[in-house]
Amino acid sequence: MNKLKKRNPHKDKKEQFATAVVANSAGEIFDLDGYAAIGMAGSQLVPLKYSDIIKLPYGSELMMLPDRIPLLYNIASRKIEKLEFNPFGPNEKVFPVAAFNSPGFVITYNCAYQENKDAGLLPLFSYGAVGWHKDGFCSAVHQVDQEKRQDLRFMKKEDVVSGIGRMRKKMPDNRLRGHLEKCALTYSCPAAKNFFLSRFEAPLPTSQTCNANCLGCLSLQKDSPISCSQDRISFTPSVREIVEITLAHFAKVEQAVVSFGQGCEGEPLLAAKVIEPAIRQIRAQTSKGTINLNTNGSLPNVLDQLLVAGLDSIRISINSLSPDCYHTYFRPGGYEFKDVMKSIQLALEKKKHVALNYLNCPGFTDTPGEITALIRFLHEYPSNMIQWRNLNYDPVSYLKAMEPAGPNGKPAGMLNLLNLIKKTFPKIKFGYFNPPCEKFNNDIL
Ligand code: SF4
Repeated sequence: MNKLKKRNPHKDKKEQFATAVVANSAGEIFDLDGYAAIGMAGSQLVPLKYSDIIKLPYGSELMMLPDRIPLLYNIASRKIEKLEFNPFGPNEKVFPVAAFNSPGFVITYNCAYQENKDAGLLPLFSYGAVGWHKDGFCSAVHQVDQEKRQDLRFMKKEDVVSGIGRMRKKMPDNRLRGHLEKCALTYSCPAAKNFFLSRFEAPLPTSQTCNANCLGCLSLQKDSPISCSQDRISFTPSVREIVEITLAHFAKVEQAVVSFGQGCEGEPLLAAKVIEPAIRQIRAQTSKGTINLNTNGSLPNVLDQLLVAGLDSIRISINSLSPDCYHTYFRPGGYEFKDVMKSIQLALEKKKHVALNYLNCPGFTDTPGEITALIRFLHEYPSNMIQWRNLNYDPVSYLKAMEPAGPNGKPAGMLNLLNLIKKTFPKIKFGYFNPPCEKFNNDIL
């Protein structure tokens, strides 16, 4: 006879949620029994269930958020609480904890908190919801790219340093090589490390200036209380320096990619004077490798020259396919949203690979207004790929900034958005990294 076990309803309820984690003022992070972690998407606050989370991806970092109060779900009372003090350690102030997730993982919820009145803008990271499950941290994310391109386990410091030594010998007077050394060692930039490790994609920062003024620009913050996360390149590399780096990378790496347009520079279209001849010289010497441009797409005529010179692919940065929301975030100087569309059109006409660098924030990107704009765009401009990227900007401030640009409605959920786009456009590729031409998604053309 089967034995019937008595069920404990409280235990069942408790176990379906990820446990909340908070930090004390010393930065120590701990879980709070009886409380569930909450994910935030705009005004929506959702207790995180097991189905919303996965194990915190390797290489992700946890951050304590100052001047903010954690919002947690009390499992027994089934209520959301603003918790200023540790219920198990009276007088111990607690703070929210967020995850900066590894590349390839899209956050589905932001960490839930309420700002104090005097809260300053958070630094330039994304702030994903995080909790504790079984014996480890868990994160509200969805994996869109499996590639190990920026997996820190394959980027040992001693190997980077020995790669730097090799490249110094090979190109002693190359200033761009020197700049990439600083990126790799000081900023721990995975793209720069990959150049010295001869893996995947090498960066080619070139431009000192930009014609936009993005709220979350990583390389320049003018009149802003926050600092940029890396210094912008302070010189324009010569054609020879760009060609030398590229040929060294292409010679050693199978399915290699080089990309203009990096986090430590401005807009590469403004450096076309050196990029165009560099592309021509590279292509005169080898047909190997993929030459890619990460760009804001602001100058279609200039882009056209680069495409003709031999550029293989472009990745256009965009936070929204609604012109007003785009302008609010990018704050363009001397170009408009329609110029970006023209650039995409030109690249598609020339059968070049077009990816969106789609900057996401749960609670904004997954609202009906944004979803409709994205679907309309993809019907009109059948792009090859969407690179789903977490927007590195204070999520509460971002939503506040976007409010006047358009009432977008109730968020549908990031996973629902991803599923809907895949269902509507089954041929489009989702990912995170710039693909080599051997892996271009040409089906769509
Ligand atoms: S387009 Fe790029 S470089 Fe220019 S302001 Fe925006 S983030 Fe910065």
